[in-house]
Amino acid sequence: MIVGIDLGTTNSAVAALLPDGPKLIPNALGNVLTPSVVAIDQSGQILVGQLAKDHQVLNPESSVSGFKRHMGSDWTVKLHKHKFDAKKLSSILLASLKEDAECFLNSEVTRAVITVPAYFHDQQRQATIEAGRLAGLAVDRIINEPTAASMAYGVHEKDSDRTVAVFDLGGGTFDISIVDFFEGCVEVRSSAGEAILGGEDFTRAVARTILADKGDQFEIAELREPAMVSRLIQQCELAKRELSNTNTAKVIVPDKNGSLDPSGTHSVTIDRDFLNRACEPLFAKIERPVRRALGDANLTTKDLDEVILVGGATRMPAIAERVNSMFCRQPMGSLNPDHVVAMGAAIQAGLIEGNKALEDTVVVDVAPFTLGIEISKEMGHQLKSGYFLPIIDRNTVIPTSRCHTVGTIAPNQNQMTINVFQGESRRVEDNLMLGTFGVSGIPNGPAGQLIDIRFTYDSNGVLEVEATIVATKTVAQLVLANGQASMTEAEIKSAVAAMQKLKTHPREETANRFALKRAERMFQELSIDLRRRLGQLLDYFESSLEAQDPSQIEAARQELLIFLSLHDRDDLSGGE
Ligand code: AMP
Repeated sequence: MIVGIDLGTTNSAVAALLPDGPKLIPNALGNVLTPSVVAIDQSGQILVGQLAKDHQVLNPESSVSGFKRHMGSDWTVKLHKHKFDAKKLSSILLASLKEDAECFLNSEVTRAVITVPAYFHDQQRQATIEAGRLAGLAVDRIINEPTAASMAYGVHEKDSDRTVAVFDLGGGTFDISIVDFFEGCVEVRSSAGEAILGGEDFTRAVARTILADKGDQFEIAELREPAMVSRLIQQCELAKRELSNTNTAKVIVPDKNGSLDPSGTHSVTIDRDFLNRACEPLFAKIERPVRRALGDANLTTKDLDEVILVGGATRMPAIAERVNSMFCRQPMGSLNPDHVVAMGAAIQAGLIEGNKALEDTVVVDVAPFTLGIEISKEMGHQLKSGYFLPIIDRNTVIPTSRCHTVGTIAPNQNQMTINVFQGESRRVEDNLMLGTFGVSGIPNGPAGQLIDIRFTYDSNGVLEVEATIVATKTVAQLVLANGQASMTEAEIKSAVAAMQKLKTHPREETANRFALKRAERMFQELSIDLRRRLGQLLDYFESSLEAQDPSQIEAARQELLIFLSLHDRDDLSGGE
């Protein structure tokens, strides 16, 4: 079976299309959202998901989150003595989701559809495909997150033809797509977005503002100890979520070592105004992509039938209000904004498998940005380089293939460098360089020897560029610029072998480890009375583990978990 995976900045989820529709698959802790966090513990074992997230609170130096933002770049991080890039970290997360799916479906899972932000560029998409391969998953398709969400809605509410805006604000990225639903078709008319804008930025903005306003008072203004910063961000995240339901929230300010004062005297109370002021410059970034997506679809807000909210950050009242005033209508969301993307990915998986229930479903997607090459232009008898020649215009339906013929600029020019860019600016310096390659063997002759440049953009949003010397029919192909070129089979094999040496904690022990880890962390922070009680519960749990009696372990763990959920201020599960 092909599964659908939402590989998120903050949380990830895996889903499968079952006879009664798309279904989210629970992880070893019974949750359908798995935090996108990886860590290495003291014994050198890899922790993934909630275990890693808990570990991160006190051990930020051996944990990492938010790595999706670095996909396709040369960013690396060191956890203990191991170096990881975003692709490897994503593959660890994907391998854990694959295992959850295998446990749930009771069969091996080797194929997946993975979602990415519509605004992900070529290298980020390639890196996502390779992360899948490293995790033992052949990636059948990469689809855009808002498109996946649209599919979930399209299948859920099959019978109504309408035009909607899908407003997707997650942990790290913002995408907006204008989508037509008609007779089982889901047709994306336009997409636009911001690659770096999401809930994580709002949380950090709150933390920065608290440090600026109150840092002196708590003697942490000049301190940037990782443990303190990580703890403060975590407390701001809690407060930010609380403010989605209440008017004020308390942020417990950690001391310089990152510890929280159990009495809560080191705290600040913030309200929605504070949150909105801290985030205002970020909120302002939402409007431009919205205007662009509407303009590209040749629509105004009046032409829309509804606005669908996707992504955890759309729970913020300020976001709902902004959507309301930008679109002049109340946004809706009859499906859970955290679940729709994975559900849509499962539907795409069903389409690939030829699932009978989806016989009438057709999905049409677009390339969200313009793709082209650098050219020189004659300006007052002088050739000037640095101009952008679009070859595939933004919002062209994909898959697509377009060809453009260019000429050499000097007599007997035997070589040409093709620089490939993505973006909307007239000059390449303001666009993003995707890659570069050389064409050699151009025959001697006057300037103007012809080269055909063909851009092929497949259904995954992955680009192939080919240059053909017209006179000789010699072909050259794009090799990516920053060393992020696709891995060969042999490289994948050796990377998989290297990763297998890193031990991941067995899934069946996850629930016990989770309870133990969280209890041990809380133990340090509780008041004396509560600490005594927790100590007793921990002793009982540990002795049950020693005795290896499954029913006693289960009972002791449940008792411990009840205590933890009553007294843990760090419990983030309320946002789900
Ligand atoms: P996603 O990538 O869609 O899982 O979005 C996760 C982001 O949504 C994180 O940055 C969370 O802080 C944010 N989020 C989740 N729940 C809430 C909430 N109740 N209020 C505000 N933000 C939330």
